[in-house]
Amino acid sequence: MSGLMQDWPLLVPSILEHARINHGEQEVVTRTVEGPIHRYTYAELYGRAKRCAKALSKLGVGEGDVVATLAWNTHRHMEAWYGIMGIGAVCHTLNPRLFTEQIVYIANHAEDQYVFTDLTFVPICEAIESQCPGIKGFVIMTDREHMPETRLDNAICYEDLLADSDEDFEWTQVEENAACGLCYTSGTTGNPKGVLYSHRSNVLHALTVNQADAFGLKASEAVMPVVPMFHANAWAIAFAAPMTGTKLVMPGSEMDGKSIHELLDREQVTFTAAVPTVWLMLLQHLEENDLSLPHLERVMIGGSAVPETIVARFEDNYGVTVTHGWGMTEMSPLGTFSAMKPAMSDMSKDDRMKFKLKQGRAPYMVEMKIVDDDGKELPRDGESFGHLVVRGPAIAKGYYKGEGGEILDGDGFFDTGDVAHIDEHGFMQITDRAKDVIKSGGEWISSIELENVAVGHPDLAEAAVIGIPHPKWDERPLLICVKNEGTSIDRDGVLEFLQGKIAKWWMPDDVVFVDEIPHTATGKIQKRTLREQFDGYKLPS
Ligand code: AMP
Repeated sequence: MSGLMQDWPLLVPSILEHARINHGEQEVVTRTVEGPIHRYTYAELYGRAKRCAKALSKLGVGEGDVVATLAWNTHRHMEAWYGIMGIGAVCHTLNPRLFTEQIVYIANHAEDQYVFTDLTFVPICEAIESQCPGIKGFVIMTDREHMPETRLDNAICYEDLLADSDEDFEWTQVEENAACGLCYTSGTTGNPKGVLYSHRSNVLHALTVNQADAFGLKASEAVMPVVPMFHANAWAIAFAAPMTGTKLVMPGSEMDGKSIHELLDREQVTFTAAVPTVWLMLLQHLEENDLSLPHLERVMIGGSAVPETIVARFEDNYGVTVTHGWGMTEMSPLGTFSAMKPAMSDMSKDDRMKFKLKQGRAPYMVEMKIVDDDGKELPRDGESFGHLVVRGPAIAKGYYKGEGGEILDGDGFFDTGDVAHIDEHGFMQITDRAKDVIKSGGEWISSIELENVAVGHPDLAEAAVIGIPHPKWDERPLLICVKNEGTSIDRDGVLEFLQGKIAKWWMPDDVVFVDEIPHTATGKIQKRTLREQFDGYKLPS
């Protein structure tokens, strides 16, 4: 028997519709790419998103077509997102931090028809134009006065486009499973692969992150997504904020400590989210200038593991609660949050910190477990570690155009490629990427844990661990380090430092020093390049 409830499709434009009706007066503040602070309301954002949608229709863009954005977090980028999704087209976020060849590959693979871009990225557009014949035009998100000299064949001024359009437009009604967003994973191996979000998955994901133990945004708050809309959807804040009528503060292109602090302070931001590097810059700026954070209550940190020093400085010195989160493009992107449980309230501060540093527990709509190489589930004992697999309504079931083939197991679980353990409280902790874990004598050694311990040495700036083939043990760890300038630490000094801090059999077989460790465009250590660099390396016997 079917239930007798309404079929109300979960469509992204309904979020903005809700914001207009219930929070039309709420502010959206942007540090513009041109410089000045811009402020208007959700009602105005709504009107301009409709103008954008109508303009796109006039350009001939329709349901299922792909339109890219290559842009910072701004009010105009928000308008473009809702405008594109509002006509049933697919909004493809291009990541400007990728190399030009990757952007070309991705734009062609996605079949982008138009690119909405900021002044900053016009040179990237010029570099890719001749190699992307499918792109019909570049919409530069600025006004006539700021339009740059450009050799782009079809450069369209965004403000002109909107001025020639109007708000008299009905959102295109598509079915809730229709595609509306596309984001390519940076992938350290092979070509980037596209994750194709639906209206339904985006709405459900925004509800997931709005649970109280996750972001729990409120109409009485102000949120600033520092995490970019071009990488992992600004962690759903572009949907979650209008859904709750939360004041939205957009940082534009300036991500240094001073600029971020100015906005946090002046706009009375209560909640913000970004990767650890951003927070290191902010904390340093606060400390050097003796500044405070009187309004900020909570900060969400993820994308890579959060170091203890960041949590301690935020919580002890500024009274800001840190939540650690983990996720990936394929998960829309958030998968876990490290919000405390009652069992932790009686713990000592040090013990609570251990849980804060874990990647956290799954909210409703994310199922996760760890399995061994044969797919058998491993216990949640905080020690056994295995492949982390996940399923849920906002998790990919395949990549765009079938790249990568079948990606779910027989039970519908997606292998994240991360290796983790889960403890009895449900807190997951990443111990490695599956391809980076070192398999020694049938047991696994976590390269990340070794790296974390090694960088605790005051003379080391960075450390990376890779597995080197070994005749007896299969693989053994090689520790590759970058020294801090002016220090004279050597191999034995490093090994001595590790003694007692790690299991004996985890001890690296050798330590080498390099000037630089290679990183991917999104800041992750490029282990594949290191493995190539150290191919054939002879460990001391
Ligand atoms: P991306 O799809 O580019 O966002 O990358 C996702 C990957 O980043 C995950 O599979 C993890 O390996 C890594 N990652 C994300 N958040 C964290 C975190 N909090 N701690 C450690 N690794 C993380």
